[in-house]
Amino acid sequence: MMYKNSLNLYNEAKRIFPGGVNSPVRAAIKPHPFFVLRAYGPYIESIDGQRYIDYVMGYGPLILGHSHPKVIEKVIDQLKNGWLYGTPHEAAIQLAKKIIKYYKYDMVRFVNSGTEATITAIRLARAYTKRKFIVKFDGCYHGANDNLLVKAGSAASHYGISTSDGIPEELTRLTYALNYNDVDQLVNFMNDKGDEIAAIIVEPVIANTGLIPPDVEFLKTLREESDKHGTLLIFDEVVTGFRISLGGAKEYYSIDPDIVTLGKIIGGGFPIGGITANREILEQLTPSGKVFNAGTFNANPISMVAGLATIEEIEKGYVYKYANDAAQRIAKAIEELLDKYGVHGCVNQISSMYQVFFTPPNIQKVKSPLEAKKANKMMYVQFHHKLSKRGVYIPPSQFETCFTSSAHRIEEVNTTISAVEEVIKEIRGL
Ligand code: PLP
Repeated sequence: MMYKNSLNLYNEAKRIFPGGVNSPVRAAIKPHPFFVLRAYGPYIESIDGQRYIDYVMGYGPLILGHSHPKVIEKVIDQLKNGWLYGTPHEAAIQLAKKIIKYYKYDMVRFVNSGTEATITAIRLARAYTKRKFIVKFDGCYHGANDNLLVKAGSAASHYGISTSDGIPEELTRLTYALNYNDVDQLVNFMNDKGDEIAAIIVEPVIANTGLIPPDVEFLKTLREESDKHGTLLIFDEVVTGFRISLGGAKEYYSIDPDIVTLGKIIGGGFPIGGITANREILEQLTPSGKVFNAGTFNANPISMVAGLATIEEIEKGYVYKYANDAAQRIAKAIEELLDKYGVHGCVNQISSMYQVFFTPPNIQKVKSPLEAKKANKMMYVQFHHKLSKRGVYIPPSQFETCFTSSAHRIEEVNTTISAVEEVIKEIRGL
């Protein structure tokens, strides 16, 4: 599908931006991404006149849908009073109090992105434990963070191999990548190296290799092994925070990590990152301690009021009801349709997130990134492309997650399911 206005702008963008975009997944739509005119509720409209039901939702922050009136109201009120002060502002306290209420730690530091949050969390853990090694998991993404861009696979599990050029080997050697949901490997590794590990960082629910929920046993073992070896456990809840419950995965799975990183929803769709932990860890940050963090835009008033407005809407009780219901219905319908038309695949879903995998017949359910990587990615691309043609916009990459919002109501859900049925039939040549 070529759309003239978007194509013209994309050609211009390619001369100005590396790969034509400012974040790589945006270039994954082939033959070219669409440029946006506006977005409202569950819909996003291109400058070429297409309207899509949006399941990308800005990659997660927009749990209220696009342009929610309460967020608009709070942001406009704030704009009238200025939007950057370089000195404190009360909204940061109000937002931090919400995080403290639901996450039950003592303190918060606001930064500007999930990437900054994970960078700061790792720095805090290293300072606290006076150790330098980190454990992460294959398939988990923690932002454009030099410490954590370590490739998947067994060799990487032991030696740490960077997946990005430009990161010194000396640095990636400090990061071990293990297999997600693999309790035995984790226990064996910690028996061997645990006393050298500053932190284990994990996406408690993986949302960056498609969607992969954890085995609760795996999360429990993370906590036990961290305790046993004096290692800090970091839950990266940039995606799951305030999405799978008000207290995120920490509350949902009843596991208490030492540090939680946040982002996305807590800024209501404006740039944000946050770190929450107890005082003895977080007070290491400057200016009370010697772990450096600073930022011109940290706790900027616009992100604070937008995040606060978003959490206040969630507290009213309707947001999860609609968002979760939409994801549940769609996930169930896709599985039924795959079955009905004899296309092999499966769908993972939790709360307001879901993703489909066109897996080979020997994989009934995707439980690890290793299995996710065996899914037919070309078929996913086809699925994406054919859905787009029918006005349904899902992420262009198999290794992202579909997000619903409280704006996705039964009408959009039914339209989506009809489009999915047509697409699956077309893929089967029916
Ligand atoms: N952590 C997780 C789990 C993420 O999904 C992301 C981004 O998608 C990040 C960290 C990085 O956040 P940001 O893109 O705001 O830097």
